[in-house]
Amino acid sequence: MSRPLSDQDRRRQISVRGLAGPENVGELKKSFNRHLHFTLVKDRNVATTRDYYQALAHTVRDHLVGRWLRTQQYYYEKDPKKISGGWQVEEADDWLRYGNPWEKARPEYTIPVHFYGRVEHGPDGVRWLDTQVVLALPYDTPVPGYRNNTVNTMRLWSARAPCDFNLKDFNVGGYVQAVLDRNLAENISRVLYPNDNFFEGKELRLKQEYFVVAATLHDIVRRFKSAKFGSRDAVRTSFESFPDKVAIQLNDTHPSLAIPELMRILVDEEKLGWDKAWAITVRTCAYTNHTVLPEALERWPVRLLETLLPRHLEIIYEINQRFLDRVYAAFPGDHERLRRMSLVEEGAVKRVNMAHLCIVGAHAVNGVAQIHSDILKTSVFKDFYDLEPEKFQNKTNGITPRRWLLLCNPGLADVIAQRIGEGFVSDLDQLQKLRNFVDDESFIRDVAAVKQENKVKFAALLEREYGVRVNPASLFDVQVKRIHEYKRQLLNCLHIITLYNRIKKDPNKPIVPRTIMIGGKAAPGYHMAKMIIKLVTSIGDVVNHDPAVGDRLRVLFLENYRVSLAEKVIPAADLSEQISTAGTEASGTGNMKFMLNGALTIGTMDGANVEMAEEAGEENLFIFGMRVPDVEELDRKGYCAREFYDRLPELRQALDQLSSGFFSPRQPDLFRDIVNMLLNHDRFKVFADYEAYIKCQEKVSELYKNPREWTRTVIRNVAAAGKFSSDRTIAQYAREIWGVEPSRERIPAPD
Ligand SMILES: *Cc1c(COP(=O)(O)O)cnc(C)c1O
Repeated sequence: MSRPLSDQDRRRQISVRGLAGPENVGELKKSFNRHLHFTLVKDRNVATTRDYYQALAHTVRDHLVGRWLRTQQYYYEKDPKKISGGWQVEEADDWLRYGNPWEKARPEYTIPVHFYGRVEHGPDGVRWLDTQVVLALPYDTPVPGYRNNTVNTMRLWSARAPCDFNLKDFNVGGYVQAVLDRNLAENISRVLYPNDNFFEGKELRLKQEYFVVAATLHDIVRRFKSAKFGSRDAVRTSFESFPDKVAIQLNDTHPSLAIPELMRILVDEEKLGWDKAWAITVRTCAYTNHTVLPEALERWPVRLLETLLPRHLEIIYEINQRFLDRVYAAFPGDHERLRRMSLVEEGAVKRVNMAHLCIVGAHAVNGVAQIHSDILKTSVFKDFYDLEPEKFQNKTNGITPRRWLLLCNPGLADVIAQRIGEGFVSDLDQLQKLRNFVDDESFIRDVAAVKQENKVKFAALLEREYGVRVNPASLFDVQVKRIHEYKRQLLNCLHIITLYNRIKKDPNKPIVPRTIMIGGKAAPGYHMAKMIIKLVTSIGDVVNHDPAVGDRLRVLFLENYRVSLAEKVIPAADLSEQISTAGTEASGTGNMKFMLNGALTIGTMDGANVEMAEEAGEENLFIFGMRVPDVEELDRKGYCAREFYDRLPELRQALDQLSSGFFSPRQPDLFRDIVNMLLNHDRFKVFADYEAYIKCQEKVSELYKNPREWTRTVIRNVAAAGKFSSDRTIAQYAREIWGVEPSRERIPAPD
């Protein structure tokens, strides 16, 4: 018999039980002693009551740690932050916070970059004086080739204020200001502008563009001078060979200042004559155009250039003067042509058209898909094509089969390799051999099984990460890409609403079940794109909770769309949505990734879709809607959205639901801007393609009912995807623009 418990005993026992139960009292004592010994470094002889308190507190905390971590993890999982209440929420990505294991800093190659200042024309040339200097620190990242012993370098630049930055007029007040100003200089490499196909015209952006151009050109010239072929004392003559050793491919107009910068180096620093320098510059530079959307084209205000880069503006004026003289000689009296082709646009704000600068300063100009390159020649840059047709080329984009097949879809890569060997990995045209397997029942079964596995796996990810359940037997209909009006996510939305209304109208009619996923980021300042995201999530809220729908129709918005998510969703897709207005998508590369991963394409005759249809046969894609000439004709005629609204009852119903708040009952006018845009100023003519799109989607569902025929069409597509390897693209840039042949020599393996 033990003695009865006193009140004090009870309290002690309750508190001990509350922590761990009486069986663990021994454990608690041990833990207490361990903390006293190891954490506080005390023994019983010297410990104070505060030490005992600390040791006990640590002991108690240890018991909470497991549940503490688990709880925080639970909160994190249940509260995905990108999207909140159906709206996009931006979060900074401080990707360098914990260091970057792939990069190697190369401070020994630091380069000074100059801004502002003034220009002095003297007897021994031009000097750019009183500039502000920002240092460019190189960081190198290795770029390994695929099993060829080659590792190339990607060199990125970080901005650093020099030690003496603004400290020249040193005094107490000036010192603090100088320290603050250092931040301003270092802001140059702090943030990437998040726009997609939109020119914002911010001074910091211009600084960034010049910063990377100046650092890179300085680096290129240093390496050229120190290379084995450029003997130091014969530098002046050896610049003749610069274009044979160096190719500068201007990826869009963002690095277009490379043209006046190279001229500045050759003329002002290396003392070459203008004509010699210009010939070298043009032979060295080539320009790739990436968009025809007018709001995306860079047109920098002359006033900004004048302050930030006064010498470059002078050089641009000189380039323009000499260019316009040539145009006038070729088209005497055509003043209107001179105005259209000038690098400098007159107007309320005087601007430099950077695309014009690139075309004039490059020996080759290319678009990124055949239809896009044709549009450059016939409309956007027609005047320039008339003058110098030999400059214009096409280089259809591609994707790397290592990432977009081998890595992201090992199941498909395996069943392919079992039939045709592994050669396709570095020679994607070998996929054509799969044509022999279009009737091979075991291959058809394997391809279908891999797709089903990928779908089940992605469905599990959706349940695990987002707590949403989808039916892996449904058709996975996917549109993932930046959110933009020209990509017409709204056309997809109208299809979803139409499917929903059809189910509601005739609930017992059997339909092909679909899981429709739309994903992508909106530029933070693009209001309409953000409204489109809210619309997708709102439609999902209604459709996914309507018991009449069951699991026949699911609508998901895939948040935080990025390469790592693309690698998971694309292998699981049955249907790839590539539905931009014909003439607006330069190429697209998402379209190619889906094709290679066994999804069928529903798409317009736009960008690389045209060549995908050519390669696979148009009958193996779901092509619909206006082609470029139809869009042009509609423009001439005048696009009237109301005509379609009045004529098509299902379209009318969908739009009326948007205006009446059917999908936003708590805020009926939420989608007012979208409705108004679609009806009154839709540059991308969504309604004009609605009817053809809906009919085409019916054909998709029809084929999906026949799994064998569906998979045979998939096989024909995969077999035709070889053209879209980036290996082919890069080889064409090398041969047809840079004038280099692939090396027959293999770099030897290191010891
Ligand atoms: C490929 C890719 C894109 C480009 O997609 P498009 O459909 O061609 O616009 C955009 N974002 C990510 C993450 C991609 O992987």
